[in-house]
Amino acid sequence: MTILEVKTVQVLSAGEHDETWTRQGGEYDCMIPIDESFERTYLELDMRRYIDIGANLTDAVFKGIYRGKKVHDNDFHHVLNRAFEVGMDKIIVTAGCKDDITEALEIIKNNDKLYCTVGVHPTKCNEFDSYDNPMDYLSILKAFIDENKGQVVALGELGLDYDRTQFCSIETQKKYFSMQLELATETNLPLFLHSRNCASDFIDIISKKRDDLHGGVVHSFTGTAEEAKLYTDLGFFIGINGCSLKTKENLEAMASIPTEKLMIETDAPWCGIKNTHAGSKFVKTKWDVKKKEKWVEGSTVKDRCEPCHIVQVLEVIAEYRQEDPDELCQQIYDNTQQLFFPHCER
Ligand SMILES: [Zn+2]
Repeated sequence: MTILEVKTVQVLSAGEHDETWTRQGGEYDCMIPIDESFERTYLELDMRRYIDIGANLTDAVFKGIYRGKKVHDNDFHHVLNRAFEVGMDKIIVTAGCKDDITEALEIIKNNDKLYCTVGVHPTKCNEFDSYDNPMDYLSILKAFIDENKGQVVALGELGLDYDRTQFCSIETQKKYFSMQLELATETNLPLFLHSRNCASDFIDIISKKRDDLHGGVVHSFTGTAEEAKLYTDLGFFIGINGCSLKTKENLEAMASIPTEKLMIETDAPWCGIKNTHAGSKFVKTKWDVKKKEKWVEGSTVKDRCEPCHIVQVLEVIAEYRQEDPDELCQQIYDNTQQLFFPHCER
């Protein structure tokens, strides 16, 4: 692979961008469209590469629909392009129930940078009980995985959420969290885990099955340094997004995590970094943003986090930990490849 040093990269419009490259003392300009040739040359550049391990791209807000009401045009392709322009190499689309999985598979099917999870979110575990035999629902999940090998890269999201027991009781959550872990053994897939205000039950369940699991990440981490250590001692990675960087305590817990155990995500459209958050003072990169009612083609939307914002997550983490952002980004990329894409060469 030829590594070229990028001097300037300027996006001219949705269809074009202008670059001046320096290569072994020589210098040349080029203008290439953002299509396959963009992707090809992009990989040859010595730039940061990101993998967003959790983006809820099935959410209707990416079609311009908010709370069931159409507010602006579908700008999904802009959302993806913005992410690819900043160096997004892969996005794992989070799915949390059968309908969600069906839609996620539809979204990813024509784009080799998109992957998805298969699993049932703790707040959706009542869906198991809508089957006479809950094992039938598990079989449906297994079929999704078997029929989409290579595109489904994790079992998830699954886990426990004791902040939202109004959607699903603690007993039901525990029962079907355990049941879904059986699939990890059968499919060899790593886990994309959700843990909210439930640390001891979560650790109990996961520890019992530990020997049959194939690793995983505890995503959207908002716990303490002690909780982080419990997870990393069990061999899990920890996913950091804007929700993990809200308070000084969050930042301190994040800073305690060993670099080789870190992953980053956006949890888009949720968990954006807001001005009121402790981490926001470390953000360097910003986009043109409009209120959803004032959306114009090419703008981001206020309070709608999207995958390109992963750059801000990296910036806050690197600055707070006083680490080199390029090296940190590469380490996080390698961590993510190792867990979810072990057979990829790059
Ligand atoms: Zn989650």
